[in-house]
Amino acid sequence: MSQSMKSLQAIRGMNDILPADTGVWQQVEARVRDLLAAYGYSEIRMPVLEKTELFKRSIGEVTDIVEKEMYSFEDRNGDSLTLRPEGTASCVRACVEHGLLHNQVQRLWYLGPMFRHERPQKGRYRQFHQIGVEAFGMQGPDIDAELILLTARLWRELGLSDVRLEINSLGTSAARAAYRDILVTYFSAHLELLDEDSRRRLHSNPLRILDSKTPDMQALIEAAPKLADHLDQASQDHFAGLRAMLDAAGVAYRINPRLVRGLDYYSQTVFEWVTDRLGAQGTVCAGGRYDGLVEYLGGRATPAVGFAMGLERLIALLVDLGVQPKLESAHAYLVLVGETAQQQGAVLGERLRDAVPGLRLQVNCGGGSFKSQFKRADRSGAEWALVLGDDEVNNGRLGIKALRGDARQETLPEMDVIERLRALVQR
Ligand code: ATP
Ligand code: MG
Repeated sequence: MSQSMKSLQAIRGMNDILPADTGVWQQVEARVRDLLAAYGYSEIRMPVLEKTELFKRSIGEVTDIVEKEMYSFEDRNGDSLTLRPEGTASCVRACVEHGLLHNQVQRLWYLGPMFRHERPQKGRYRQFHQIGVEAFGMQGPDIDAELILLTARLWRELGLSDVRLEINSLGTSAARAAYRDILVTYFSAHLELLDEDSRRRLHSNPLRILDSKTPDMQALIEAAPKLADHLDQASQDHFAGLRAMLDAAGVAYRINPRLVRGLDYYSQTVFEWVTDRLGAQGTVCAGGRYDGLVEYLGGRATPAVGFAMGLERLIALLVDLGVQPKLESAHAYLVLVGETAQQQGAVLGERLRDAVPGLRLQVNCGGGSFKSQFKRADRSGAEWALVLGDDEVNNGRLGIKALRGDARQETLPEMDVIERLRALVQR
C-alpha cells in the first residue's frame, strides 16, 4: 500500500459507527426521544462550532477541557472557533440569543457529537456523542428530582441494571467561596503531595483538585475538609428537599462529598450515574444545577439544571449486559429472473410498497443468477423471497418462498402475495 493510502484513516479517537452497530444506537436514541417527549421536553439543535470565547467563559479557564482538550482553530477571517466540547454552553447561548427564557420555563434536549482532545482509551474518545437535557426557569429541587427520575426510568426501559446514583451539593457561589479558602489552607499544608496540575490550580481553582484522578493524591483528597460541612442554610434546604423526593420515589443514591464535576458553572445539586462494568470510565451520565450561567452569558438571571449522558459508554454497557436490540431486517427480498423481470422489478417493488404500508422490501439490483440472488436474499435477513420470472410477468403471478425452514416455493396471484405480506407486516 502506498504511503498516501495508508494515511486515509479516521483521526485517532474518532470512531466510525458501522452498520452492524447503528441498530443499537438507533434503538437507544429512539427510546430517549420517546421518553423525553413523554416528560414534555423539546429538541433543540445547535451548531457544532462556536466562538472559543463561549466555552472559555462558561466552562472556566482553569479546567481540563479549556486548558488542554479543546479543538480550537482560527477560521479564514481570523476568528477563534472551537468544536463544541459539550452542549450546555451552546444551549444557553441559543436560548439567550433567541429570547427563549423570557418569563417562561423551558425543558430542552439535544443529541450530537462533542469533541475533546483527550487520551483515547476505552470509553474515552475525541469525538463522542452526548444526549443533553436542560431545564430553565425552575429553582426548586423538584426539577432536579424530575431529571433524576427520568434517567432512572430510561435505565429501566433499556434494561440497564448496575448503574448507581451519586449526588452532592456544591452550595451557592458564596458558600463555595468560603469553602475555597478553607481548601487552599488545607492543600497548602501538603504541597509536596500535590501533582503539577493541582499545584498550579491551588489558588486559581482549588475545587478542581478534589476532582483529580491522580492515584497518589486520593488519600489526601479523601481527608480534605468537606463542602457539606460549610453549606449555607438555603443550599442545605434545597439538598434536603431533593433527597426527600428521591426517597419518596424509591430511588437509591449515595451522597459523595467529593463529587464536584469537571466544569466551573455548577452550583447546588450535582449528580452522576456510575457503573463498575466499564473500568475507569464508569460515569454514563452526569449533571447538575447551574443557576449562575445564564446571567453570566448575558441573559436575565435564570435558574437552570441539566445533565448529559455519554452514548458510547451507555451503549458499551448495554452490549456488556447482553441487551440485544430488536433487529429490523427486511420482510421480503425480490428475486428477478430474466430480462423482462429485471425491467419490471422496480415497478413491482413500488406497487408492493404502495399496497403494504410498513413493508420492508429489498429489490435485487445488479442482476445475478437465480442462485446468487437467493444467497443475497438469505444474507439480507428477509423472511421471504419473492420470485419474479418472465412467466410470472406474463400471468400476473409471483413466486413466494419462506427463507427459514424448508417450505416449498408457491406461485400465487399478486393480490394473494400482497395479502400475505400485509399479514406479515402486521404480525
Ligand atoms: P469524565 O470524568 O469521565 O472525564 P466528564 O466529567 O468530563 O467525564 P461531562 O463533561 O460531564 O464528563 O460529560 C458527561 C458525560 O459524557 C460523561 O459522563 C461521559 O459519559 C461522557 N463523556 C465525557 N467525555 C467523554 C469522552 N472523551 N469520551 C466518551 N464519553 C465522554
Ligand atoms: Mg473529562
